[in-house]
Amino acid sequence: MTAAISVRGAVKHYGALQALGGVDLDVAQGEFFALLGPNGAGKTTLISALAGLIRLSAGSIRVMGHDVVDDYREARRMVGVVPQELVFDPFFSVREVLRLQSGYFGLKRNDDWIDELLASLDLTKKADANMRQLSGGMKRRVLVAQALVHRPPVIVLDEPTAGVDVELRQGLWAFVRKLNEQGHTIVLTTHYLEEAQTLCNRIAMLKAGRIVALDNTANLLRAVDGHTLRVRIA
Ligand code: ATP
Repeated sequence: MTAAISVRGAVKHYGALQALGGVDLDVAQGEFFALLGPNGAGKTTLISALAGLIRLSAGSIRVMGHDVVDDYREARRMVGVVPQELVFDPFFSVREVLRLQSGYFGLKRNDDWIDELLASLDLTKKADANMRQLSGGMKRRVLVAQALVHRPPVIVLDEPTAGVDVELRQGLWAFVRKLNEQGHTIVLTTHYLEEAQTLCNRIAMLKAGRIVALDNTANLLRAVDGHTLRVRIA
């Protein structure tokens, strides 16, 4: 079966700084995969390259078999990215944000799906509220809806629980778990081993732009003493 994500020799330089130092990675369809690493490890860089937002200095990435550079449009359709930062036009309503994103993918009649997304993320009552009137937690849920607007098979979440309270965190995880059970491939980046361990089948540890460990969750925890691992990723 085609890999959901296939990364080969990914290198990224920002001037003299090497953010990715040769990453090879395969994520199978249907996996719930964690990319674990401290600040500056290269997680966002790898995700941005995967979403076609930045170009690698060397190497290649395929999403569901589509090269993110040579076959950008198809590759982009295959993936929904929930970014770390909340960037919205404050005067757009929730529904307008989702319609705009649908338009980006050429989806003209998407309102039924938008309504479904709003309902499953408990945003129906806020559908016509402007983004500036929403709490941080609600905005984060809009980000999730936005990533799903084109029904991508692969969903990538970049530290979605950073700065999020316990209740919303649990709600988000329940939602993402359900997506995984429905067959979506999930990749999430996190600083927290506990989060990766609770949710994911496999974990890759990224440090200074390189994968330093990659295994299924049980093996990874067995191989590395929990305390050492915590110190290494803190
Ligand atoms: P965090 O957990 O803090 O979000 P991260 O693992 O996502 O970190 P990246 O954001 O990918 O790490 O950053 C990797 C390295 O690349 C860091 O040293 C960062 O300062 C650098 N970097 C990222 N984006 C740029 C940029 N646009 N220009 C210059 N350097 C950058």
